[in-house]
Amino acid sequence: MLKAFIVMWLYLLVSATILFVAAGRTDWPMRWASLVVYALLSSAGFFLADPEVITERTRMGPGAKKWDVALASISFLFLYPITLLVAGLDAGRFRVIAGYAEYTRRVRYRLVPGIWLFLIGILVWDAGIATAEGGLQVPILVYHRFGPVVADSMTVTTAVFDSELRYLRDHGYSVIPLKQYVDYRLGKASPPPQHSVVITVDDGHRSVYSEMLPIVTRYRVPVTLFIYPSAISNATYAMTWEQLRELQATGLFGIQSHTYWHPNFKTERERLTPSEFERFVSNQLTKSRDKLQAEMGTGIDLLAWPFGIYDDQLTGLAKNVGYVAALTLDGRPARDGDDLMTLPRYLMTNAYRGHAFEQLLSRSAARQ
Ligand SMILES: [Zn+2]
Repeated sequence: MLKAFIVMWLYLLVSATILFVAAGRTDWPMRWASLVVYALLSSAGFFLADPEVITERTRMGPGAKKWDVALASISFLFLYPITLLVAGLDAGRFRVIAGYAEYTRRVRYRLVPGIWLFLIGILVWDAGIATAEGGLQVPILVYHRFGPVVADSMTVTTAVFDSELRYLRDHGYSVIPLKQYVDYRLGKASPPPQHSVVITVDDGHRSVYSEMLPIVTRYRVPVTLFIYPSAISNATYAMTWEQLRELQATGLFGIQSHTYWHPNFKTERERLTPSEFERFVSNQLTKSRDKLQAEMGTGIDLLAWPFGIYDDQLTGLAKNVGYVAALTLDGRPARDGDDLMTLPRYLMTNAYRGHAFEQLLSRSAARQ
């Protein structure tokens, strides 16, 4: 929030300077030019600021929050130019002497209501954000491997995983299928319950079948697996198609895409020409979906970015080939205004056990 505050004051400072210059000009072309500069600067500031801040300010869910954000944006983007105009009406009376504007009493009177109007605008804007922030927050967790002991950084022990599910059950959290959350975000389903949590697992490691399945069956929680087909029934560490079908038959596991062979899109982009890269990505996305659809017999329209790597080009390509949502490793709860192609997830390691897990939830599975 401190960053937002600094951005806001920087914005104020720049705007005030422009106001000063604009009001000091008697000729209309110059005044309009400064208005244009103001508009450009404020929109640039708006989009160049910290992405966290931007998501805070543009959080538009399918619910009633839209109006709050719209009102806030209107007050932010339009009230100030109006202030400028009101103050500028009397700009004819300004005289610029050695860079300083010397203004008459009457102009000062005009400026005062203008500044008040602006301050009220900021208040309305902040109130709008405060209301919008009450929107639904859902932590999406991503696990990789399970085992009796911590074999590597991506392993969560079965004891810890068991305790996490027990904690969720005993403290009134609802574990909902990822699909349900995405449908809500697409406006196809009603909002999930308060204190919802989503569980996903990337990579299709064989310990999902051997270690995770018994625990998931005991607690009966829905899980979404992101699979890259090249490993299945092939790599020794991965599950087989038979095992995946068995998981699916429990009704608790959903299968979705994690590209075809889990490439690092950053490295591939350096290696390939732009057109080759585009073909490569599209191929990874469609081949994975087609193979999974053929093997599992279900529709595939969700994607997990390998290594959490994504950018505008990648999300555009994923949308083009028909994915409706994609997930990252951005370590924060999913919010109503988040882009569906870059939904954040918490990368679960054994370090998240106990108190750290409780903290993660209390911070992120928000109330309305
Ligand atoms: Zn992965």
